[in-house]
Amino acid sequence: MNSNEIEIHKELKKYFGFSQFKGLQEQVITSILGKTNTFVIMPTGGGKSLCYQLPALIQDGTAIVVSPLIALMKNQVDAIRSLSSENGIAHVLNSSLTKTEIAQVKKDITSGLTKLLYVAPESLTKEEYVSFLQSVPISFVAIDEAHCISEWGHDFRPEYRNLRHIIKQLGKVPIIGLTATATPKVQEDILKNLDMSDANTFKASFNRPNLYYEVRTKTKNIESDIIRFIKQHKGKSGIIYCLSRKKVESIAEVLQVNGISAVPYHAGLDAKTRAKHQDMFLMEDVDVVVATIAFGMGIDKPDVRFVIHHDIPKSLESYYQETGRAGRDGGEGHCLAYYSYKDVEKLEKFMSGKPVAEQEIGFALLQEVVAYAETSMSRRKFLLHYFGEEFDSETGEGADMDDNVRNPKHKVEAKEQVVK
Ligand code: ADP
Ligand code: MG
Repeated sequence: MNSNEIEIHKELKKYFGFSQFKGLQEQVITSILGKTNTFVIMPTGGGKSLCYQLPALIQDGTAIVVSPLIALMKNQVDAIRSLSSENGIAHVLNSSLTKTEIAQVKKDITSGLTKLLYVAPESLTKEEYVSFLQSVPISFVAIDEAHCISEWGHDFRPEYRNLRHIIKQLGKVPIIGLTATATPKVQEDILKNLDMSDANTFKASFNRPNLYYEVRTKTKNIESDIIRFIKQHKGKSGIIYCLSRKKVESIAEVLQVNGISAVPYHAGLDAKTRAKHQDMFLMEDVDVVVATIAFGMGIDKPDVRFVIHHDIPKSLESYYQETGRAGRDGGEGHCLAYYSYKDVEKLEKFMSGKPVAEQEIGFALLQEVVAYAETSMSRRKFLLHYFGEEFDSETGEGADMDDNVRNPKHKVEAKEQVVK
């Protein structure tokens, strides 16, 4: 280790109490400290926040962190404040602040106390804030959830498109973009939009070797099939994703009637019920949550043993995120998706009300899901290829963990396509 490495290890320990960097963190941090544009692609839970928090804390000036969700920003600010005796070390700048609060934020930045300033992209466009930020030293700008820049990402935010323009007004500051979206298309969009084709890019592997991938043809017997599956995993925690609230309710009921402890979760339930059902799942008062995609954001239950998709997801990106909630502890995680062409048509119908450009993207993403469901090759290889990653289906980690590899003759077909 050279003196720089010793230094950042010491700072890691001092601020965060960790004795080791995770994955590519150290390389990323070294790149940022070298004042180079940096692009970080790591799966959820990979430790992206620390990649910008640590260099911000140890450098002069204030780092601006752009993030799409106020709740996430508040969490991070609280976490950083708890590492320090100074409240002013991190601030959020947004429209909910009073004049007095804004004055305090500005004072802390000007005095050099504030190391991290979290802003929502729409706040950053405010003339008043831009001219203030031009007058103070900025160490770098971190753009978290950078896929929000791309229409090909799962969470497009038009305001993100203005970021490059605003950052340019701040002078020559390095940019660090971070995302858990691994598709090459989204990555290209990010680099292009932020005008940083020169960026040092760090991409972690998205392979989850402990997850088993399986697709089954969806038939009329799906309910008894699911019940059988759950009974084979007695006492284990699992999530079942359904497309509609109605389906969530009916599946939860069917499971309950069949002696499986399950609760529904969707945005149509009131906040209290949702919180209660989520807690019941986390505390293991119930084994199964039947949910729409409203469930799971920020859920960190390490021992989810299966994730079932009653209906196919709208993209492989979503599928990866949703199945990624299984086996966080490194133990078994069975990812089972039911596939029928009727579901594809249903999703297409959903999209038909949207603007044409959005529809086209939606259809293209959906076609990839169809290809995944119908493929006879290694599902892991297929998924990772979609994320721009080469996977050796003979020797790669987790190579035998899918239905196609274990049972090469087996073929999933969308029967309803013919029936229609
Ligand atoms: P991401 O934004 O990539 O989804 P986070 O930044 O939220 O991930 O970090 C995920 C978890 O990893 C957090 O609980 C964080 O404290 C932990 N973590 C990050 N870096 C390290 C490290 N070097 N050692 C141990 N835990 C870490
Ligand atoms: Mg994050």
